[in-house]
Amino acid sequence: MNEKNLSRLREAIRDVNDFPKPGIVFKDITPILASGELFRLAIDEFVAALGGTSPDKIVGIDARGFIFGAALADRIGAGFVPVRKKGKLPWETHGAAYTLEYGEAHVEIHRDAILPGEKVALVDDLLATGGTAGAAMKLIHELGGEIVCTTFLVELSFLEGRRNLDSGTRTVALLTY
Ligand code: AMP
Repeated sequence: MNEKNLSRLREAIRDVNDFPKPGIVFKDITPILASGELFRLAIDEFVAALGGTSPDKIVGIDARGFIFGAALADRIGAGFVPVRKKGKLPWETHGAAYTLEYGEAHVEIHRDAILPGEKVALVDDLLATGGTAGAAMKLIHELGGEIVCTTFLVELSFLEGRRNLDSGTRTVALLTY
């Protein structure tokens, strides 16, 4: 990973106080997306975070995980699989419920999106309490996928979200707060 790239990404992230609820400092990553150069740097760093694990599928979490995950999948020639909020996927699904930093949620994956034994990398913009990523990991395991890497642009380490992730899985956050 390239420290200069990472500090440029860090500088671009905008803190929005009290969004979506009082007391939450929302890490707004849209300034990175709005810059062609920074978006590409972010994907460069996600590729580095994979560390040669060469996944067959990238699983991205609704909604900002779709943006980084899909670009990463295209870059490395992997398939892309969305984990979506309840009721959004049209085909047969597996689901998991969890609590997150600001509410309750339920995520789903298509039952045929990952084949048993496929290598999977899980991608999201931000690790907060780890509820969302933990639920996504459960879904991937239920389908028989092997998680080779879990990667985030941002980790809010004070929320100790890694406690809700599989301890045996390679987990990389590009930026830690
Ligand atoms: P969690 O399940 O608590 O780890 O929450 C992670 C999900 O919620 C991710 O998909 C994030 O996009 C979003 N999220 C949670 N907290 C924040 C925050 N402070 N700033 C931006 N996004 C957040």
